[in-house]
Amino acid sequence: VTRSDYARRCSLATSSLAGRKLDALLVSSAANIRYLTGFTGSSGLVLLGQNSTVLFTDPRYGIQASEEASCAVRVWRGSPYDALAKWLRGKGIRRLGVEKKHLSHDSFLSLKEQTPSGLRLAPVAGLVEDLRMVKSPEEIDLIRRAVRLNSEAYEGVIQRARPGISELDLAAELEYRMRRLGAEKPAFETIVASGRRSALPHASPTSKLLGHNELLLVDMGATRDGYSSDMTRVAFFGRPGARVRKLHRAVLEALEAAKAAVREGVAAETVDGAARRVLKALGLNRAFVHACGHGLGLEIHEAPRLGRRNKARLKVGMAVTLEPGVYLQEFGGIRIEDTVVVTRSGCEVLTPTSKELLSL
Ligand code: ZN
Ligand code: ZN
Repeated sequence: VTRSDYARRCSLATSSLAGRKLDALLVSSAANIRYLTGFTGSSGLVLLGQNSTVLFTDPRYGIQASEEASCAVRVWRGSPYDALAKWLRGKGIRRLGVEKKHLSHDSFLSLKEQTPSGLRLAPVAGLVEDLRMVKSPEEIDLIRRAVRLNSEAYEGVIQRARPGISELDLAAELEYRMRRLGAEKPAFETIVASGRRSALPHASPTSKLLGHNELLLVDMGATRDGYSSDMTRVAFFGRPGARVRKLHRAVLEALEAAKAAVREGVAAETVDGAARRVLKALGLNRAFVHACGHGLGLEIHEAPRLGRRNKARLKVGMAVTLEPGVYLQEFGGIRIEDTVVVTRSGCEVLTPTSKELLSL
């Protein structure tokens, strides 16, 4: 991502200020800050105005900000809101947007206390996130690389998984492998759930040992160059019985139906509905307890959510996961998750890993 990309993103964000009757926007989400300026530190605020973008950060990040940020940098000591309030004086800003999903109530109150009188704070949702939904070709390339790295880590480790090691051991192996392959970190806490625990869609790995004749669900993602990947696969220790095979086939069919529904202009809920229809026909719709997918990029969960009642239309360049699943208490769960990029006529599947039920 070049300096001119950041400049273009800032000017796109600025151009939507007027429509929301804002003079400036205070950006406090780290992912939004990175998207707009390139700054990757964990402490910072960006003031995005009509004519200027300024990053406020503290002395721990002074050097990093001067090297990374494509905009002006102000290093503060003490409260960032003091620095911000000083900077705002005399700038003629009357309505300042704040990111209501990212600014804590406490920070909102300090900001309110310290900003000049006559300045109004306006809660804003999704302004930068809306821009982030559609990825540039460079961003898609970064996601593709993160996806490939993740698949490579999974494929290298899963064949060696054996009954008798714990879920935590396997999660550690997977995360070690992804780091050795160049990931900065896991994109989220790696999910390893075996046996009945696979019925918990967001299970944290435990000391439970992987067992014979049990399902094994792995949901993992790697962050590389800031961009995330996300994939779920299931394996079985031994020869899977008819019920497991049938459920696996059903979920795979639901995933293929979702994939076939993805195309520019289609509503997000339509994709979810396509997967849901397949599972409903098999009497499994009540076991599909979450949305069919989500956008991903600088964050693991981004807009659009591919779920019921989301009428947002898919656009070319959106990167989304498709991840139908069924979860049966006492029995176990199966989810299969791929990452795809929306194209004019369909989608490009980024995830190279086989979706067959792996028998270990
Ligand atoms: Zn996942
Ligand atoms: Zn996911």
